[in-house]
Amino acid sequence: MVDKIRNIIIIGSGPAGLTAALYNARANLNPLVIAGVKWGGQLMLTTNVENYPGFPQGILGPDLMQKFRDQAGRFGAEILNVDVVSVNFKSRPFKIVADSKSYSTKSVIVAAGAETNWLNLPNEQRLIGKGVSSCAPCDAFFFKDKKVIIVGGGDSAMEEALTLTKFATSVAIVHRRDEFRASKIMLGRARANKKISFIINSQVVDVLGRDKVEGVKIKNVKDGKVKELPIDGMFLAIGQSPLTNIFKGQIGLDERGYVKRVPQGDGPGKFQMTTSVEGVFVAGDVHDYHYRQAVTAAGYGCSAALEAEKWLEAQSD
Ligand code: NAP
Repeated sequence: MVDKIRNIIIIGSGPAGLTAALYNARANLNPLVIAGVKWGGQLMLTTNVENYPGFPQGILGPDLMQKFRDQAGRFGAEILNVDVVSVNFKSRPFKIVADSKSYSTKSVIVAAGAETNWLNLPNEQRLIGKGVSSCAPCDAFFFKDKKVIIVGGGDSAMEEALTLTKFATSVAIVHRRDEFRASKIMLGRARANKKISFIINSQVVDVLGRDKVEGVKIKNVKDGKVKELPIDGMFLAIGQSPLTNIFKGQIGLDERGYVKRVPQGDGPGKFQMTTSVEGVFVAGDVHDYHYRQAVTAAGYGCSAALEAEKWLEAQSD
């Protein structure tokens, strides 16, 4: 079945997508948000969010996303909980297939987000939010005077370890090799911090604890020996993966699969938040591997919505 031609379709419904929807709805563009069956993005998997401004007592991640959704809906954004199956940005209007239906649109905001890489251990998944976390700036506070580990050997692991030392009594960085991907400066800062220790050539093979994390089993990859380490928290910093499979071959992606920002236009006709295809904009973690915060994603969503609005106006001149 073929739909009418829309002004704008937003793919994704985390803070970036729903903020874009709010702004585009208030500009009377009648945006359609293709939210995904699992709508709401990464905050749906968190418990208390204490660093989103405006909520001094904190707010549960799913409650915050419901508020985002209600606010966009209040101004007329149409939100469908279906997954995008494919996109065609090679001809205009653009075509998006979701739930066996083809949607046509003049412009698109790609806000499909990213997902944390996990070790995928059964007990790790069960204890997310109960001592297992992938966000030190969000959850470090809950580990005041506790012992924690952080898994990974990149800049994120170093940065998050340093954040954790503000609260935890000790932070062990568990890394699977003896060489680090982290920059010298970040590694140096971590090494200089007395609260941080390193467990190298090691992989976490199990997380222990019934209702909360009580320890981990760590295997030395050189000699195969497994030891138990009592800890209160395990933080993952082994990277994240952008959700961009459906965009391959349609818009420019970098070598890690993140959407590339590509300048479009000149002078007063210059647009921001643009991709390799004019009329397709990007917002949030699907292109931002640096900040990865709900508030920065929301900011990107606002920017992309304003740019798309300006671009649509320029098309009708
Ligand atoms: P990253 O550089 O890709 O590092 C990921 C780390 O996780 C690597 O050490 C990797 O080990 C390890 N790892 C991956 N899969 C694993 C698994 N299954 N089990 C155990 N370990 C695993 O990712 P990142 O640290 O998130 O950084 C991403 C980008 O953001 C980088 O460009 C980084 O420089 C940048 N960044 C910069 C800053 C800063 O400058 N302040 C802060 C954060 C991030 P191997 O090394 O063995 O592959």
